[in-house]
Amino acid sequence: MKNDKPDPLRRLLIKAPMLAPLLTTLPASAKEKMLSQMTETKIVSSIPASGHTLLLKNADVVVTMDEQRREIKRGCIYIKGNVIVAVGTEADVPQTADRIIDLKGHIVIPGLINTHHHMYQTLTRVVPDAQNGELFKWLSALYPIWERLTPEMMKVATKTAMTELMLSGCTTSSDHQYVYPNGIKLDHSIEAAQEMGMRFHACRGSMSVGRKQGGLPPDSIVEDEKTILADTQRVIETYHDASDGSMLRIVVAPCSPFSVSEQLMRDSAKLAREYGVSLHTHLAENISDIEYSKKKFNKTPAQYVEDLEWVGHDVWHAHCVKLDDYGMKLFARTGTGVAHCPCSNMRLGSGIAPVRHMLDAGMHVGLGVDGSASNDSSDMIGEVRQALLLQRVGFGPDALTAREALEIATLGGAKNLNRNDIGALAPGMMADLAVFRLDKISLAGANHDPVAALVFCNPGEVAYNIINGRVVVENGKVTTVDVPVIIEQQNRFAHQLIMG
Ligand SMILES: [Zn+2]
Repeated sequence: MKNDKPDPLRRLLIKAPMLAPLLTTLPASAKEKMLSQMTETKIVSSIPASGHTLLLKNADVVVTMDEQRREIKRGCIYIKGNVIVAVGTEADVPQTADRIIDLKGHIVIPGLINTHHHMYQTLTRVVPDAQNGELFKWLSALYPIWERLTPEMMKVATKTAMTELMLSGCTTSSDHQYVYPNGIKLDHSIEAAQEMGMRFHACRGSMSVGRKQGGLPPDSIVEDEKTILADTQRVIETYHDASDGSMLRIVVAPCSPFSVSEQLMRDSAKLAREYGVSLHTHLAENISDIEYSKKKFNKTPAQYVEDLEWVGHDVWHAHCVKLDDYGMKLFARTGTGVAHCPCSNMRLGSGIAPVRHMLDAGMHVGLGVDGSASNDSSDMIGEVRQALLLQRVGFGPDALTAREALEIATLGGAKNLNRNDIGALAPGMMADLAVFRLDKISLAGANHDPVAALVFCNPGEVAYNIINGRVVVENGKVTTVDVPVIIEQQNRFAHQLIMG
């Protein structure tokens, strides 16, 4: 019987005709390899019809996080527009491009993915009354300050957080924004992300149960549930881009089981699934959280979210420090993700999330810096190191390896955000990557294993950060914002907020 299916090359060129000149310049073996990699990926159709080409060459190591977890010495990456076209050695990758960056003395990793943050909290770092309390005490000290936030503060705080994230290797971030006083809208965070050029998952958070109803937040900072749902629907309809390569997605994200009603949790899940967007909240963060859940709902947090249908590939929960065995099995079975936030868990004395057990159970685990009032930094590569160290404190020196910690922060993050177009450097993936220098004093003597050195040592700020094919950090300088101006504005706003 005759097979009418076009061969792989023809199929690829039908989808991406702009690749024809590139494929003809490659040696036969490289062409074959590239073709097999590209036709295996589902998202080749997102390759743009036009775009500048960028070649990163000669990197000491390229950590791909691809299916074989290749670490390529003297590695090259060829980018067209916003998509990675080829990854390999000099022989595998075209050596001419509109722009070429020589990365001798550098290491390249997939852009880090931050899956939990509250960026407005960069304005309330190290608040004296909140320096030493556990979660509920800490929140009670901060709520009255957050009541005074303004839209302009929100934008500057978001840019502050994103600047710090970009300099620490992060290319995609979520932001869980759940306070809306004084005319603040999620739109303000989104505007900041668009100006910064960061790939963004904007979580429309909310609080609806104030003190009057037995909740923790003051009544003045909660919203009514009809308003929350209507505004969430508005931002989904206005901004959510579900397509491959999306720079902006909306997430439905009531703050926590102790600050919204059961009904809002159910309505949020229904709304999210009508629109095909993800769900996010805080869960099982510390022992008080567990006690509240048992007392108020007569269920563990895992039983509560199961009952609410807050499980599945489209759901990820922050913290889960106290997730029990039942919860781990449930999350593994349903593909529910967890954002592990080691610094915040240590800062608030919440405990050690059982990440080793979660991974062994087959759960999706990503990394998050958490809000800057409980970290108090947005240093993603630093968070990778803390994840490694904290697991060892809890579960022994082989509890997590450097490469596993990096995987959590890249592929793990992508799974949390329900994406398959970021988290690895491979043909067809979005061009998001971070580049660190290897010739720093903090890495001197560690060049025999630069990948592990990135996690065990302190690599400092990136040399380059590329998001969606755009160089947003160049030679250590952020190109999309005037950093001294942001620092001045941020300090002025923080002073206003904290000093009253
Ligand atoms: Zn949080």
